[in-house]
This record gives sequence, C-alpha cells and structure tokens, in this order.
Amino acid sequence: MVSSGQALAGKRALITGASSGLGAHFAAVLAAHGAEVVLTARRTGSLEAVAAQVREAGGTANALALDVSDAASRAALVERAGAIDILVNNAGVVREGAALSQSEEDWDTVIDTNLKGMFFMAQALAPAMRAAGGGSVINVASVLGLRQAGGLVSYAVSKAGVIQLTKTLALEWARHGIRVNALAPGYIETELNRDFWQGDAGQALIKRIPQRRLGRLEDLDGPLLMLASDASRYMSGSVIAVDGGHLCSSL
Ligand code: NDP
Repeated sequence: MVSSGQALAGKRALITGASSGLGAHFAAVLAAHGAEVVLTARRTGSLEAVAAQVREAGGTANALALDVSDAASRAALVERAGAIDILVNNAGVVREGAALSQSEEDWDTVIDTNLKGMFFMAQALAPAMRAAGGGSVINVASVLGLRQAGGLVSYAVSKAGVIQLTKTLALEWARHGIRVNALAPGYIETELNRDFWQGDAGQALIKRIPQRRLGRLEDLDGPLLMLASDASRYMSGSVIAVDGGHLCSSL
C-alpha cells in the first residue's frame, strides 16, 4: 500500500466485490487515505471480516449485502448506502471454457455480473452524486477487455463492454460533474490463483509479460487513488492499464 494520507477525507466510497481479492484491498487502501468505505458483496461473513480489518487499521467501514446482478438487491442497497462520492465497480466473475461449449447460463452469469450489474450500480448511485455536485466512478475492467485469450469468451466480451460503458457514461455524465474511468489490471497474483502461477503454464505466461512478473495488489494503489481523488479531476473516459507492459507484448 502507498503511504497513507487524508486525500479522501470527507469522502464516502462504495466498493462492490469487497469480500475478497482486489475489492477487499481497494477498501483498505481508500480507508487508509481517509474515505469512509461501504463494502458490498454477497458473502456477508467474509465482508464483515474485511470490514473489521479495515476498522482495526483505523478506518471507518460498513458492510452491506449486495448481489449486483439482482435488481431488488441493488435497490435495497441504494436505500441503505446513503450518498456516495466514489463508486468502485469491482465485482466480477469468470466462467472459463471453450466458446463451443460455453453454456447460456454461464454466459448470462458473467454478463449480468460484470457488465449489466456494473451499469445499473452506476445508474443507481449517479443521481445522488449529481445532486452532491459530482463524484468518481471507477470501473474495474481487465487487459482482457482490450486483448484476447482462449477459453474466456464471455469474460473478455464483458470487459470490452466495461470499457465502452466507461467511455459512454463519461460522455453523458461530465455535465453532472461525475467522472467515469476504468482500471484495466493485468494478471494480479492473489491467494486464489497463486497455485496456477507456480505451475508450468503460469510460469510460461509470466515470460510473456515485459516486466517478467505478475502484478501485486499494491501495484494498483497509485492508479486507484489517482482516479478516486482530485488528482484526476480532468480525467474522464480514461482506461488505465496496470499490467507490467503486457498489452505491449510482442506479436
Ligand atoms: P475475487 O473472486 O477474489 O473477487 C470477486 C468479487 O466479486 C468477490 O468479492 C465476490 O463477492 C464479488 N461478486 C461476484 N459476483 C457478485 C455478485 N453477483 N454480486 C456482488 N458481488 C459479486 O476476484 P478478483 O479480486 O480477482 O476480481 C475482482 C475484479 O478484478 C473483477 O472484476 C475481475 O474481473 C477484475 N480483475 C482481476 C484480475 C486478477 O488478476 N485477479 C485481473 C483483471 C481484472 P461474493 O462472492 O461475496 O459476492
């Protein structure tokens, strides 16, 4: 984590998918920089545990249940969340498999969570942001929204959609003072994927990253804080890749 300060003092940030991985880390980073954080996800036990860790570190955190793919759940969340200055649209799922065998159920799960859920969360929170004079929406895309890899058709399509969603909302909402930008992480090592990276396939993939290493959660801190804060006040519709140069890898 970058050294803490109070750049986000007085701001309220809502993070989707905060029960694990990137979202849990984002919540801790934003809280360490002064934001009051609202953590959301479906697994409320994990969510409460992450919120407790944030509080133990001196932050202000609440946990609220949310299924981003469910309209009633989104509506209930918006009722309880109050005004939000920073929305980190991070919840996401992957369903791997060859395009020829991808089921309609898997396709729908991925698109409903990663793309539809993201749009309707932004739409639900934007009116209060507009009323408050503005806000920042940070959509978590992926390098797979800009390039391709086998076995990930629905995921890559959802993330490409996130990038176009980001630019379209940036265009429409600039007049309301709402900035909308995307983070496009490359491969980030987390507890969930650590075993893969230690195997032969993982090691071969790492060799294709120009920096020859995986991303770490902390590598996202600077771009996250920039997009969340006034440091990026003249940025909207931007897509920031944080990938060790992976998108620039040689053909
Ligand atoms: P995790 O599986 O650790 O986290 C995913 C989060 O999304 C969980 O907190 C999960 O919570 C939540 N989530 C899933 N479905 C829903 C839903 N329907 N409603 C609400 N929350 C939901 O994965 P990561 O931390 O790796 O991924 C986070 C984001 O980062 C994703 O958008 C992913 O695509 C993106 N990303 C990750 C990269 C990586 O290398 N790890 C690289 C590029 C992008 P719960 O199950 O409790 O609901």
